[in-house]
Amino acid sequence: MNNPSRRHFLEGAAATIAGAAVLSSGTAEAAAKKGSKGTASYDLIIVGAGCGGLVCAVRAAQIGLKPLLLEKMMDSSGNTIYAAGFMLGTNTKMQRAAGISGDTTDKFYDDMIKVSKGHGDPALTRYFVDHADQTLEWMADYCGIKFKTGMHFIFPMLTRSHLVQGPTQPGGSQLALDLQKKAKSLGVKMMFNTKVVQLLQNSKGFVDGVRVKTKDGYSDIRSRGGVVLATGGFSANQAMVTQYAGAAAARMPIRGSHIIAGENIKLTDPLFAKFVNVDQYHCGPIHGPTGANPLNIVNNGICVSREGTERFTDEGQTYVQMARDTAAKTTDNWAFMIVDEDVHNLKVLANDWNSYAKNHAPVYKADTIEALAKEAGLDPKKLTKIVDEYNEACANNTRAKLVPPNTLKEARPVKKAPFYAVPFQGGMTATFGGPLVNTDAQVLDTENQPIPGLYAIGNAAGGLFYDNYVGGAQLTNAAVYGYHVADYIKANLKK
Ligand SMILES: Cc1cc2nc3c(=O)[nH]c(=O)nc-3n(C[C@H](O)[C@H](O)[C@H](O)COP(=O)(O)OP(=O)(O)OC[C@H]3O[C@@H](n4cnc5c(N)ncnc54)[C@H](O)[C@@H]3O)c2cc1C
Repeated sequence: MNNPSRRHFLEGAAATIAGAAVLSSGTAEAAAKKGSKGTASYDLIIVGAGCGGLVCAVRAAQIGLKPLLLEKMMDSSGNTIYAAGFMLGTNTKMQRAAGISGDTTDKFYDDMIKVSKGHGDPALTRYFVDHADQTLEWMADYCGIKFKTGMHFIFPMLTRSHLVQGPTQPGGSQLALDLQKKAKSLGVKMMFNTKVVQLLQNSKGFVDGVRVKTKDGYSDIRSRGGVVLATGGFSANQAMVTQYAGAAAARMPIRGSHIIAGENIKLTDPLFAKFVNVDQYHCGPIHGPTGANPLNIVNNGICVSREGTERFTDEGQTYVQMARDTAAKTTDNWAFMIVDEDVHNLKVLANDWNSYAKNHAPVYKADTIEALAKEAGLDPKKLTKIVDEYNEACANNTRAKLVPPNTLKEARPVKKAPFYAVPFQGGMTATFGGPLVNTDAQVLDTENQPIPGLYAIGNAAGGLFYDNYVGGAQLTNAAVYGYHVADYIKANLKK
């Protein structure tokens, strides 16, 4: 699959990674040898070099701990490097400098609970919103992350978002690069191509190490303060997605990382972790074969199935729901957005058209609806009927009576040639479920007791997200709890 984000990341990351890789060679065996004799070489072991793991490593080093960061791939390879790079705060100094005011943590909390349909864990949500500002300021001041503020992001159209800036695109790749650079400057030991395959416990049940697999085989590494799982969820594990989220979700092409394989569940299940929200996931529109993203196009025209040429969804719903419907209500998880020249020229769609052009994804174009249908392989008679009915409903203000209804705020009649047909699918972004954690990121067992020495953060942890997420809250969540867990481990480390 064409994968521009990752390619850019690799180009940008080359220098940083080279240093880290050299650091890792030779030290794996040494660390493992020490560990297998029972000597803890590190204060904490962090599994996964995404936003959560890297923030945790940097914070741990800053407060004088000796962290070890393990990453199964040759560099950061999870969803972080695919993320647009939006993060959320309500009253940061970056916002104040830009003249942004009026937002509060209480409003942020209410939005989080609303978007999770009331299922977001209240304590996790409260801790999260109350600590987002200080985490973002620390990322800017201590880690050198550059943020742009002042954009009105998707929901709830407030200026909460901070977009990571820098030469590498997307913003999430820049974030991973900046955090790796900081970790390296602090002397954090990072071992790449090192996959954690098992958690180790001492006789008291404290998680005091990991078994890793490298090109040289298997070895054990010990930690004095425990193990932090920052492995992401299971979005790229089709069997797990089928088992937990169902067949429609499993048919979705992946919008992010292809190696997020469910280690958050596989590693913690033998320790009887309690899993929550495993049927929940975030999805969005995508042209699967190329990765092109019609994020805004899907809310600005008529949506028809590829097979059968039927309207099957309300185009006024969130893009998440449109993606869900496309996967669940069409037999092949393919649909087309039909738009006219007026919609084509809307400023808000410019990025989407660029995405299709840049990724060489097809956009069909013709001067009549019938010709457009033929170009796109749709049924000309059916498409003409759908467009006529839709245009009439726009003119009569009866879009809500269409079946299914069309609740778009503004009518988008398809009248002015040329006309466009944009193919897309419902695509999987990330899973929301995993081992339930408390506000210290401790993993809870099936009896709701913390499993000593075991922590989970970011997409590896369950409890905060359900149904959908406030755009920007996932990276921020990984950072907030990544920062906090380092402090918590330091406070609880036995002298
Ligand atoms: C297209 C897209 C756009 C997005 N945009 C945004 C956005 O703008 N804002 C936002 O808030 N969220 C966004 N998200 C969500 C966001 O990217 C994730 O929530 C976030 O990056 C998760 O970070 P993480 O540290 O938990 O995990 P990840 O970044 O997924 O990192 C997990 C790491 O763990 C490693 N790993 C896994 N298992 C093992 C193992 N056994 N041993 C060693 N290493 C292992 C993986 O290789 C990986 O490097 C987006 C997601 C996608 C797909």
